[in-house]
Amino acid sequence: MMIWKRNTLICIALTSVSINKAQTQELHYPGDLIERIRNSSQTMPGSLPRAVNFIKFAESHRTYSIVVEDGSEELFVSARTAFQIIYEDGSVMIDAGMDEIVHRFYGFGRVEPYWPENNQLVQDALQQANLILITHEHGDHIAGVLRSSIRDEIAGKTILTQAQVDTLINSPQLPEIGLTEEQANDYIIIDYDILLPVAPGIVLVKAPGHTPGHQMIYVQLEMGTEYIFIGDIGWSIDNIKQKKLRPQETINRIGEDPVELMAQLAWLNGLLEENLLVIPSHDNLLLTKYAEEGLLNNLSISR
Ligand SMILES: [Zn+2]
Repeated sequence: MMIWKRNTLICIALTSVSINKAQTQELHYPGDLIERIRNSSQTMPGSLPRAVNFIKFAESHRTYSIVVEDGSEELFVSARTAFQIIYEDGSVMIDAGMDEIVHRFYGFGRVEPYWPENNQLVQDALQQANLILITHEHGDHIAGVLRSSIRDEIAGKTILTQAQVDTLINSPQLPEIGLTEEQANDYIIIDYDILLPVAPGIVLVKAPGHTPGHQMIYVQLEMGTEYIFIGDIGWSIDNIKQKKLRPQETINRIGEDPVELMAQLAWLNGLLEENLLVIPSHDNLLLTKYAEEGLLNNLSISR
């Protein structure tokens, strides 16, 4: 505690850039990170998951020029999605959907596609899940566990990181997803260094940059298929393939840390040669292709 206090005092004497860096604790991924992730995915007792399901509950229509640096004016359909990891005897959710009020925030005044019945399926899947994980603290990923008629029921099985909670309390993306300290106590709040196994085959991987509380989620199935859910590190797989950030204007609007993001893009780019599925939350084209190939199935609710 004393050390933390001393660091805080030292930071105050430095520039604001240094304070930000100290707060986000710039990460350096070790060269053997993927091996460490794979090993730790096998540390939790129990059978590995059997399948990965997903659902799209909304869309935003953008152009590649705001998604990838030097991108074209061609349409980029941003799918708003949630994922469901299926075990023999249960399920884990990745991200939580959002209600229509939060959805409107992302339209910048335009009316964009929203399917309330699909968001209800996400709510049903959250209700049935054993555990809920959140890639990051933006409304399109987290609103479903904050603004929900079943919030009291699902909060206690939802893991939020301390960094996610800090953002939601101090500077939420929109007021509708703000959290009080008292409300935060209803969730499971964790902090970890670089990685943390949370269920058989599932590992959280810290990745601040798009938001301070951003993380990736690695999943390995029983049959050996590996997925890495990268949230919004890149909105398109092109960000990873081309090792390109979002354009400066988008970076500024979101308040991203480009240094952290570039390190993550480089690490993910290296993984493209591995037999591992990189899953950006919003890449409609890629998700549709994976669904057609049977690598992602439709969200399932047991009635
Ligand atoms: Zn998003």
